Amino acid sequence: MRVDTGKYKKFSVIGAARSGTEVAKLLKRKGYEVFISDGGHPSEFFQQEINENEISYEYGGHSDKVFDADAVVVSPGVSSKSQLIKEARSRNIEIFSEIEISYWFSQGRVIAITGTNGKTTTTSLTGKIFEDAGFKTFVCGNIGLPFASVADKTDNDSVTVLETSSFQLENIKYFKPMISVYLNLTPDHLDRYDSLEEYGKVKMRITENQDAEDHFVYNYDDPFIRENARPLKPSKAAFSLNGSVKSAESKGAYLDKNELIYFYHKGEEIVADTRTMIIRGPHNAYNAMASLISAKILDVPNQSIKNSLETFPGVEHRLEFVKEINGIKFYNDSKATNVNSVWFALQGFSEKIILILGGRDKGNDYDEIREIVLKKVKHIVAMGESRKKILNYFNGLVSVSEAADFEDAVYKAAAEASRGDVVLLSPACSSFDMFENYEERGREFKKIVNQL
Ligand code: ADP
Repeated sequence: MRVDTGKYKKFSVIGAARSGTEVAKLLKRKGYEVFISDGGHPSEFFQQEINENEISYEYGGHSDKVFDADAVVVSPGVSSKSQLIKEARSRNIEIFSEIEISYWFSQGRVIAITGTNGKTTTTSLTGKIFEDAGFKTFVCGNIGLPFASVADKTDNDSVTVLETSSFQLENIKYFKPMISVYLNLTPDHLDRYDSLEEYGKVKMRITENQDAEDHFVYNYDDPFIRENARPLKPSKAAFSLNGSVKSAESKGAYLDKNELIYFYHKGEEIVADTRTMIIRGPHNAYNAMASLISAKILDVPNQSIKNSLETFPGVEHRLEFVKEINGIKFYNDSKATNVNSVWFALQGFSEKIILILGGRDKGNDYDEIREIVLKKVKHIVAMGESRKKILNYFNGLVSVSEAADFEDAVYKAAAEASRGDVVLLSPACSSFDMFENYEERGREFKKIVNQL
């Protein structure tokens, strides 16, 4: 074990969804005393898991039993500023996240990836590069499979690629990835953080325990990250859409026209050409550069990296190509739940776009996409809770219409499109006003498109 956990014997886990249940099971497997407490009512599935593993629990509220512990493990869905967590802190109980605990019981190299956008894509792509190159690879984190489910399967030879959210980083203590990756910082989650600065700093904690043997891979084009990278201890590698990054760091990657170039103290190497990759757009060039740098650090051969980059199909619901009907291409970008990812989505197309926007607003400022909308968007269909805000903002700037429901939105968008256009679902909003989650929204989109 990487961490001496001697002083922690009894744990309370808050939240009985996927990561809470998995970390409780991990602790139980390792012989610790665990109690799991959920303020609501966990799904049948997780209740059954908890029962089968003979973990003691309470549902529908938190009793004082939560505080009868040496440490509390908090699920990412529970804010560190919540009353319960404040109370635990005031009683001098330490608070940890699921990745912190999982890290204790894991072995081998950890590559942790954070950023506002692109985490899942970069995590999957990095995972594929290592898998293809024959490494014993685990891909986990926010991506569906918690770190806790794989932590005790890792060994000294393995590479764990971990999608790391700011919520998880809020409560780390010893977590020390061999490679940390910081993709970008743009406004999001400002319902949980007081400012962009606070949110960005929490993500910087990914480097907190790294030393000179470790690596920090970062986006040189992001002024906040660039500034914060300066005083850091780990060896740094930067990526950029511009070759001037070479004068700033001794290793990294940049985009030269269509070529992804890796540079280091001995010179530079062309690793891949974005024109032969399936994923498109400048944001994916960033994701590819971040992935290839991690691969270079662990000595994956260029040819192998190139093959993996060229065969990576992208991730479902992220600028996913659905179908072409009468010369109109339909793309599902349901995962675009903030304005910045819509900007990048629009950037990826040279065609005229019919854009479906709307859902639950998390404080969107549409000024960010005003210019690019004027340039590329032919028509906007506004839907969901935030449709009036969208109509008000774009009215007079570009042709807009209002949809009665989701199906109507897709039909209206299709009706506005002509041969050679793109219909793009990239809503800039969360899905919770109409759907269970963005996956359901994306699946529904594909179903409707396939029936058109
Ligand atoms: P995350 O896991 O961080 O939410 P995803 O890979 O799921 O990131 O992508 C989320 C959304 O952001 C998608 O709409 C995608 O097209 C867009 N996106 C992906 N990579 C980037 C990037 N590097 N910068 C900006 N937007 C991105």
